[in-house]
Amino acid sequence: MALLISHYLRGVIVTATISRSTVVGLRCKECGHPYEASARHVCEDVCFGPLEVVYDYEAIKARVSRATIEAGPVSIWRYRDFLPIEGDPIDVGTGFTPLLKANRLARRLGLNNLYIKNDGVNMPTLSFKDRVVSVALTRARELGFTTVSCASTGNLANSTAAIAAHAGLECCVFIPSDLELGKVLGTLIYNPTLMAVKGNYDQVNRLCSEVANTYGWGFVNINLRPYYSEGSKTLGYEVIEQLGWQLPDHVVAPLASGSLFTKIRKGFDEFIKVGLVDEKSVRFSGAQAEGCAPIAQAFAEGRDFITPVKPNTIAKSIAIGNPADGPYAIDIARSSGGSIAAVSDAEIVEGIKLLAETEGVFTETAGGTTIAVLKKLVEQGQIDPGETTVAYITGNGLKTTEAIATSIGEPFLIEAQLDSFNAAWQRAQSLHRPTLETVG
Ligand SMILES: *Cc1c(COP(=O)(O)O)cnc(C)c1O
Ligand SMILES: [Zn+2]
Repeated sequence: MALLISHYLRGVIVTATISRSTVVGLRCKECGHPYEASARHVCEDVCFGPLEVVYDYEAIKARVSRATIEAGPVSIWRYRDFLPIEGDPIDVGTGFTPLLKANRLARRLGLNNLYIKNDGVNMPTLSFKDRVVSVALTRARELGFTTVSCASTGNLANSTAAIAAHAGLECCVFIPSDLELGKVLGTLIYNPTLMAVKGNYDQVNRLCSEVANTYGWGFVNINLRPYYSEGSKTLGYEVIEQLGWQLPDHVVAPLASGSLFTKIRKGFDEFIKVGLVDEKSVRFSGAQAEGCAPIAQAFAEGRDFITPVKPNTIAKSIAIGNPADGPYAIDIARSSGGSIAAVSDAEIVEGIKLLAETEGVFTETAGGTTIAVLKKLVEQGQIDPGETTVAYITGNGLKTTEAIATSIGEPFLIEAQLDSFNAAWQRAQSLHRPTLETVG
C-alpha cells in the first residue's frame, strides 16, 4: 500500500511515503473524523478529541502469523506490522523483557498463578518508556523532525535523551525540577538540553504544548502522541506470546496518563482481531498512588470524568494530576470487571521491598505502587487466586533509591577479621525475619 502524506510545519511542507506500512491514517477516538498520519494529536477539525492510529487489519492478517513473529528480532520490532512506522526502525534493542513466573510472591499474596512482566530491565534506559520512545522517534525521523523533545515525569526524559543520542537527533527535554537524582543523571549523561521546570508535571506539559507550537519540534508525547502511545501495545503482545500464545485472565498495571493501560488492551484486542490468539475476556485493574489518584477517585465515585489533582507522592513517575486517557482507563476497568485502586507512599515502599525480597526484582516507585495495589486487590477479593494474573513492572529501582533509602536497614560494618565477622553474624541471626523464613 502506498500513501502519500504531508504535513505543514513552520512554513515547510514535509512529505513522506508510507510504503511497507499497514497504517491507514489517524482517526479521532471520539468522533471518528479521519486525519492523515502526520504530526498531530487532537481532532482540530471537529471535537478536540485525541487521535489514534488506524491500521489495515486485513493487510496485517495476510502478512503476519505466529511463525513470522517468532522468527523476528528479539525486540518490539518483531511486531513492526502493528506499529505506525514505514521504514527502518531505530533499533536499540527495546522490548521482549522477561515474563517471570512469580511463585514466591504469589504464595505470599495468596495467588496461584502470578506473573511479573519486568520492564525494569528494558533497553536502553530500564523502563517501559523505551518502547514508546523507540516508536515515536522512528516516526519523528520519518516525518522529518531533527529536534525531539518531551514533557516527562522522569523515565521519558531518560529514554528520549538516550534514543535521540543513538539516532543522532537534537534533543531538548523537560522535567519537573523536583525529580529523583537517578532520573536527572540518567538524562544528563546523554547530553541533551535538560529543562528542569519549577512546577509539577501538568505545568511542564502545558509549557511544552506552547513550545511545540512555537518551535515545531517533535514532542514524543504531544504532537507525536498517537505514534508514541502505540509503542505500549507491545506490552500486550509480548505477554500473549510469552504465555504461549494465550491471554491472561487479569492484568494489573500502573496509571499515569492512563495511556499504557489502554494500549495493553488495544494490543490484546488486535491479536484477537487478526487471529493470533483465541478470544477471552481479560480483567483490567489499575494502580495509582494516593498522593496522585485522580483516576482511582473517579472510579471509586462512579464518575467517568476526571477531576484534576495536585500530585504529592513519592511515585513521581506516575504523578500526573490531569491524566489525558483517564476516562478510557476507567471505561476499560469497569467494563472488564476490573478495579482501580490507590495506595499510600508507605504501602508503595512495602511493595518495592516485597517484590525484591520474594522475586529478586528491584523496581521503582511505580512498580511498588503496582505490587501494593495487587496485594490490596487480592485482600479485597477482587482477584481470584486461580486467575492467571500479570502485574506490569514498568521501571527500575536503581533510579529512585531516595524512596527506600531509609527503609531497608544497613550493612554490618566489620573489621577484616574472623572475630569481627563472628560477632556480626550472631547479631544478624538474632534479628530474625519470620516472614522470609516461613515462605519456601
Ligand atoms: C510513564 C510511566 C508509567 C505510566 O504511563 P502512562 O502515562 O499511564 O502511559 C508507568 N510506569 C512508569 C515507570 C512510567 O515511567
Ligand atoms: Zn473528533
